[in-house]
Amino acid sequence: MASHIVGYPRMGPKRELKFALESFWDGKSSPEDLEKVATDLRASIWKQMSEAGIKYIPSNTFSYYDQVLDTTAMLGAVPERYSWTGGEIGFSTYFSMARGNASVPAMEMTKWFDTNYHFIVPELAPNTKFSYASHKAVSEYKEAKALGIDTVPVLVGPVSYLLLSKPAKGVDKSFSLLSLLDSILPVYKEVVTELKAAGASWIQFDEPTLVMDLDAHQLAAFSSAYAELESAFSGLNVLIETYFADIPAESYKTLTSLSGVMAYGFDLVRGTKTLDLVKSEGFPSGKYLFAGVVDGRNIWADDLVASLSSLRSLEAIVGKDKLVVSTSCSLMHTAVDLVNETKLDNEIKSWLAFAAQKVVEVNALAKALAGQKDEAYFVANAAAQASRRSSPRVTNEEVQKAAAALKGSDHRRATNVSVRLDAQQKKLNLPVLPTTTIGSFPQTMDLRRVRREYKAKKISEEEYVSAIKEEIRKVVKIQEELDIDVLVHGEPERNDMVEYFGEQLSGFAFTANGWVQSYGSRCVKPPIIYGDVSRPNPMTVFWSKMAQSMTSRPMKGMLTGPVTILNWSFVRNDQPRFETCYQIALAIKKEVEDLEAGGIQVIQIDEAALREGLPLRKSEHAFYLNWAVHSFRITNCGVQDTTQIHTHMCYSNFNDIIHSIIDMDADVITIENSRSDEKLLSVFREGVKYGAGIGPGVYDIHSPRIPSTEEIADRVNKMLAVLDTNILWVNPDCGLKTRKYTEVKPALTNMVDAAKLIRTQL
Ligand code: GLN
Ligand code: ZN
Repeated sequence: MASHIVGYPRMGPKRELKFALESFWDGKSSPEDLEKVATDLRASIWKQMSEAGIKYIPSNTFSYYDQVLDTTAMLGAVPERYSWTGGEIGFSTYFSMARGNASVPAMEMTKWFDTNYHFIVPELAPNTKFSYASHKAVSEYKEAKALGIDTVPVLVGPVSYLLLSKPAKGVDKSFSLLSLLDSILPVYKEVVTELKAAGASWIQFDEPTLVMDLDAHQLAAFSSAYAELESAFSGLNVLIETYFADIPAESYKTLTSLSGVMAYGFDLVRGTKTLDLVKSEGFPSGKYLFAGVVDGRNIWADDLVASLSSLRSLEAIVGKDKLVVSTSCSLMHTAVDLVNETKLDNEIKSWLAFAAQKVVEVNALAKALAGQKDEAYFVANAAAQASRRSSPRVTNEEVQKAAAALKGSDHRRATNVSVRLDAQQKKLNLPVLPTTTIGSFPQTMDLRRVRREYKAKKISEEEYVSAIKEEIRKVVKIQEELDIDVLVHGEPERNDMVEYFGEQLSGFAFTANGWVQSYGSRCVKPPIIYGDVSRPNPMTVFWSKMAQSMTSRPMKGMLTGPVTILNWSFVRNDQPRFETCYQIALAIKKEVEDLEAGGIQVIQIDEAALREGLPLRKSEHAFYLNWAVHSFRITNCGVQDTTQIHTHMCYSNFNDIIHSIIDMDADVITIENSRSDEKLLSVFREGVKYGAGIGPGVYDIHSPRIPSTEEIADRVNKMLAVLDTNILWVNPDCGLKTRKYTEVKPALTNMVDAAKLIRTQL
């Protein structure tokens, strides 16, 4: 019985690659320095898997930035603007595509399926020339081999590569990306041939798009692509790996009848129907099934007994020597190594497994199936599972009951949004086109130092409070001078919009090194939700009341919504996601009510990540949107008509979910918009009725560029062409915390000037 790992985190247990990359980008270290860190990381990962007993160890899952960009480099599909002149693609061209350079912007980045990882979107045109321009897959294979480790090189499969691409700017609408299949397959053949010559006996093609809703034409591309590659496959075992969901039955049939393919990998964690599918559809005899039972997306220790039982069912279908134990997907979506967690207590630690521990779990399962069960290891695992099930830290009866009571009901504010807006306007007395910002103000080094020192107990609570108070006073004063209508306190007390709340809620734990790559060198450290969530004390009321006391203008209370807290955390797997979300919603509801009682008249509940949780398959969208939107409404259904509820979202691409957004029933929504103007406004141009307040961002806060008054006014006028004057707000795209005051002040000055200018023209 064999074991396999789909992919492994690249950053290193202490984010070594991140620091090496950033130092190289800053010109503080040489290419050789960077390569040395990368080589050492790869070697230690391969050795670790080899020592753990893994049979099929992946290579080429390392990347200096992103595996899709690596594939673009492999195919030589460099967009013209980077002036690449051929030859092997080096750091300069590679990082220019990833991050832009002084004269050329970066390629677009987008989310990798429903993860928080972002890949660089290939830009292809009918005339894109492909050539074998990065030999990375082969050199990594050889590098491992030189260490005595025979690996399985991993490539992003040709069909998924094209399906994840976008047409380059200016390309005719009728252009089909899949029409490029014949042009890229020759390069894939060269790579495969070279890998074979170097000694590879297995190759893994990642084709995760197979879990999506595909049409017949897209499915046919898989059949023809692999038929075309078959000649290059002789003498090789080819594995097609899928992940993140189960495969629709139609696609399963296509997949399992591909020619030249020896093995198929499935995600049995997210793909809850996969087992039944294999049972009912059967599995081609003589082929291998790579069973992804160990969760690559979460941090929980595997329930080995449950996994063993799924594996035994599969074994009965595919045969003992054809079943391979694997991870559900690449482990790059989980934290790296539990060994580095010194802050977590032993009880919680015993419930967890990060990438390094998951490798051991995979191997233990494979050995158990082969009749060499490590009894002590299984006993310890069972004990940890039992302790997690029965721990009083996990279960809070009261919370369970309150959340269960929510399910069937609706939770809506009693009156209609237009009635509420009138009532609010009487109290708030705002001008037309009211101006506001999204919440955070620049976070200076000083500010970060104050928070750090308070956390480390180097300064007293008194000193901390007075430093934060001064910061709030400064931010309030700036906004009054700018003549902004609805103010924010600037969020100086917050490190991160989820962590800040998680730290004050029960049921959350925090890691010291549980980093997960988000994009490039950027990593996030999601909180772990391990138990029933409750709010022992108010979380923001103290600061919000303080801020409100400094001004006569309305001060927004600022909260993170339940869906965003859920989607940006490692979530418990012992109850459905919606149940956890309802619990968080109840905690936030209490906070909303305390803010209202404390005299805060405008409360913003950010749902930056609502769209991120959208399931990959359309058939599951309605169910998710239903409980997600319900959770949001739960937080504020109890407030008075005169209390204005805002929400904020960090993307504009929501044509498909606009009705759910309306159903959130917020009084005002502010949305990122300026990077994709037309997308958002087209929804309204197409006649969607929107009666609540709306503030599509008037400038991009991701860039240091300062927009002019004319430019902003022009944007606002475009919005007025499709939206009623009395519902439009004027605000930036998102929070300002990553910007400098020297950028923020002039930009906001111009924003307020633009609003005032247009008010005079109405
Ligand atoms: N209120 C948050 C801020 O301004 C919102 C951040 C976000 O949407 N990502 O920072
Ligand atoms: Zn945002």
